[in-house]
Amino acid sequence: MIVECENCGAPLHVEVSDRMVACRYCQYANKVAGTRTLMAQTPCNWQPPPTWTPVQAQVARDAAKTVKSAVGIALLAPVILSAIGMLVAGGVVFAVASNSSSGSSGLPSLGPSWDGSAPFSCGGNDSVTLENVVASLPAQVAITVRENCELTIINSTIVAGVGIEAGGNRDVALSGTTIQASEVGVRLDGNKHLVVAGGVVRSSGTAVEAGGNVPVTVQGGATLTGSPPLVTRANAHLIDQGGILLDERTGLTGGK
Ligand SMILES: [Zn+2]
Repeated sequence: MIVECENCGAPLHVEVSDRMVACRYCQYANKVAGTRTLMAQTPCNWQPPPTWTPVQAQVARDAAKTVKSAVGIALLAPVILSAIGMLVAGGVVFAVASNSSSGSSGLPSLGPSWDGSAPFSCGGNDSVTLENVVASLPAQVAITVRENCELTIINSTIVAGVGIEAGGNRDVALSGTTIQASEVGVRLDGNKHLVVAGGVVRSSGTAVEAGGNVPVTVQGGATLTGSPPLVTRANAHLIDQGGILLDERTGLTGGK
């Protein structure tokens, strides 16, 4: 199976009999029993990603914590900006915006929050991070992203007809998140770049449907599974960084 390194979030292949696994990227010694299972069975053609950038979600969380505990926000701004810079350099633009950072810290709210009880939408220049949300919205469009809204979803579970419908500009990033859809997991148009960094997008229909001008990036351990897992139109294309695409019609991995 494939488990997640507790230290850096990298996908690691382990045998059923393994009790410990040393991370090939950060060398952390993981107790297998304590790790999160990314895939119950390692696909036969799976290759570990050649390199691994420690999970973006963790960096974003750490940065958000820094903001919350900061007395002098201005003093820490360069630290946060450099964290963002590192992520941009890694090809993933992450919003270091947490709704919880709007409270006592005095920072303005950078976007709406979501409890998962009704469909969510963002637009304008919102920069939104949704974390630990559980939403069950069968047959509905759970999340609508328009204009320049930049959306990051961390450690959440979304069950819907369509998980995310996104148009306009800037990124949608998923980390450690499961989307389970009856129609389409994520539908993209315009200049929306989707980054799936861990987690699963699963659909009875197409997992990810991408039109427009920008790529879909699937990083190591992240899985798109559907019938088919990915459809691209116009200039959309796949950047495969060790992701897993599973076609449920054929049981084959890797195809679109
Ligand atoms: Zn590691």
